[in-house]
Amino acid sequence: RRLAAVAAYSGLGVTSDGHAVALLANVGTADEAARAAADDVEGVGLFRTEFMFLDRQDPPSREEQAKTYTEVLEAFGERRVVIRTLDAGADKPLAFADLGAEENPALGRRGLRLSQAREELLDTQLDALADAYHATKADMRIMAPMVATLDEATWFAGKLRERGLPSAGIMIETPASAIRAEHLLADLDFASIGTNDLTQYTMAADRMQGELGSLLSAWQPAVIAMMKAACDGAKSADASIGVCGEAAGDPLLALVLVGLGVSSLSMAPSRVPEVRAALATHSLADCQAMADAALAAPSLKEARDAVAELASS
Ligand code: PEP
Ligand code: MG
Repeated sequence: RRLAAVAAYSGLGVTSDGHAVALLANVGTADEAARAAADDVEGVGLFRTEFMFLDRQDPPSREEQAKTYTEVLEAFGERRVVIRTLDAGADKPLAFADLGAEENPALGRRGLRLSQAREELLDTQLDALADAYHATKADMRIMAPMVATLDEATWFAGKLRERGLPSAGIMIETPASAIRAEHLLADLDFASIGTNDLTQYTMAADRMQGELGSLLSAWQPAVIAMMKAACDGAKSADASIGVCGEAAGDPLLALVLVGLGVSSLSMAPSRVPEVRAALATHSLADCQAMADAALAAPSLKEARDAVAELASS
């Protein structure tokens, strides 16, 4: 399997003028990771670890987790693997960490907030990640979900450093973290924009309610402006920034994101070939012109039309 992975991997995504963009896979289980390792991807940009925790009475032990993480790291060899710590909460409830019913679960104790309320769960997870890292010395990077304040980011990064873990990051999926990215990232290595939640919270539109239609699109000018703020902040803080929400797999929007300054795009592996092809036919300057056009557009439709026109010209 590892040989097949190496044979399929053709290198970084690249624009027509040679600007590299890492094209990465979103995965939720070790099996999915093993399949993705045989695909033409630069690594994993989002391993959603909560699937190991859901639908069971007790949390997975340090040993059980370390085994899974080691498997995923080994499947990717030298390629990077970005692991997100437990992102559960009232809408993805855990039998062993019941914090009680909440009126607005999406605004409640989910993501890193749950980890702060049940610190032992995060500590065990980070211990297991440290075991896997020290056993493999792989290119493992760890990030926290649903961060809103500098205190949260600092608290999380401190836990990673205590364990000798090499690369600390946060997801940017709240407007608070997007507009304060420079400050939140001052002491961190990287950020990954979660466009699903960033759209939900920017537009105040529940991502579970499909009938909200275009309010849930990352093409909304407000969401694009929020992502620009995050990219500018990351640049000032000298931290790398990527995207791991669904928007990364939309070839046109991916060009806009590259124009805004992201250096990686993580998506369902099936989306990678189309995004790779879109990158290969446009230069970095083209992408920057598309980002400018999207930012200047007064509406979602005009943003998408303007970018589509530039992409086909
Ligand atoms: C996101 O919010 O965009 C994201 C990648 O995380 P999830 O979809 O798992 O909430
Ligand atoms: Mg999210």
